[in-house]
Amino acid sequence: MNTDVTIIGAGLGGLTLARVLHIHGIPATVYEAESSPTARSQGGMLDIHDYDGQLALQAADVMDEFHGLILEGRQAMRFLDREGTVLFEKADDGTGGRPEVQRGELRQMLLDSLPADTVRWGHKVSGTRSLGEGRHEVTFAGGGTVATDLLVGADGAWSRVRPLLSTATPEYTGKSVVETYLYDADTRHPAAAKTVGGGAMIALTPDREIFAHRERGDTLHAYVGLSEPLEWFAAIDFTDAAAATARIAREFEGWAPELTALITDGDTPPVLRPLYALPIEHRWDRVPGVTLVGDAAHLAAPNGEGANLAMLDGAELGQALATHPDDVEAAFTAYERAMFPRSAEAATFEGAEAHRTDSDTNTVHDLIAAFTRHEQSP
Ligand SMILES: Cc1cc2nc3c(=O)[nH]c(=O)nc-3n(C[C@H](O)[C@H](O)[C@H](O)COP(=O)(O)OP(=O)(O)OC[C@H]3O[C@@H](n4cnc5c(N)ncnc54)[C@H](O)[C@@H]3O)c2cc1C
Repeated sequence: MNTDVTIIGAGLGGLTLARVLHIHGIPATVYEAESSPTARSQGGMLDIHDYDGQLALQAADVMDEFHGLILEGRQAMRFLDREGTVLFEKADDGTGGRPEVQRGELRQMLLDSLPADTVRWGHKVSGTRSLGEGRHEVTFAGGGTVATDLLVGADGAWSRVRPLLSTATPEYTGKSVVETYLYDADTRHPAAAKTVGGGAMIALTPDREIFAHRERGDTLHAYVGLSEPLEWFAAIDFTDAAAATARIAREFEGWAPELTALITDGDTPPVLRPLYALPIEHRWDRVPGVTLVGDAAHLAAPNGEGANLAMLDGAELGQALATHPDDVEAAFTAYERAMFPRSAEAATFEGAEAHRTDSDTNTVHDLIAAFTRHEQSP
């Protein structure tokens, strides 16, 4: 294939695609809105599963590098009630199939695996349009355009490429999370550190949840989940960190102090992240010359699969293009045929509940049951 593949978005999906194309000798250019690889903190830890994310990394031939990023012990998982009692606990014995890595380090690893000029930083796409006969034009917010025969939207939830294929837009799931970090937790926040333990901890009631993870060193990263409409959050001034923290903490009155410390003792201002999703069955009829990977194609409420699926999409699309170098439509069709049902199943898969607490009926006991069934499934 001589055509340069135009990829929008240097997230995990777009970079895995670029890497798999590279090892098959197919040129690609990735246009990324952010000004540099370090322009934005890349968020927390990701568990990379042996049945999807790791398959993508194998296809990208970066397993040795990946193993170097794994944080030992972080697969430990515990479930608590709101009083702080541990109801279920699974230690990390090193044999689990979902090792944890820092997202930023994983992204950097993929960047390092690409030729230096593959990613064009500071190229925010403002629009896309069809030029006919499978060609598309991409317009950048800072000026300039590119025309391409082979366009892939890997630009996440609010994709500017998606409108070429579908009229769907993400809708609010009814739940938001408020993110906090606690640094040097073993010494500065010992009660919270002890409660979180060596890996991940979840405490929840049907509409309130505290999820926290021990990241590299003894940093605790907490997501405080509340099932409330967007207007409820709009009434809180998140520019006033102290007032916003106090307002969120009020919702957790009666919870154990070592749990609420994950809200009140944050070393960073609380950050609100409303959760959006595309319809579970989101799909499109084939449009020549363009397709989507990752969240652009199948944004779902966080269920522990999104980053894994984005990478698998990228890897499989890269392999499909390598298999059909002279027939882009055959490659796109083969890729989408596998991707559509896979992403729909992941969004509804019962085991996904083990990572998700956004159901009105979820109790911590339901979550433990789902987690143990998921762990035992082949
Ligand atoms: C709170 C939370 C927790 C999560 N936890 C997990 C987890 O534990 N495990 C897991 O597997 N998944 C998790 N996810 C889901 C995961 O983050 C996403 O599914 C994953 O990042 C999707 O990857 P992507 O490459 O498709 O998109 P993204 O990671 O969103 O990357 C898109 C890239 O495109 C760029 N971009 C966007 N718009 C433009 C534009 N107009 N022009 C150019 N570039 C653009 C962005 O800057 C970005 O670099 C979580 C999500 C949330 C919100």
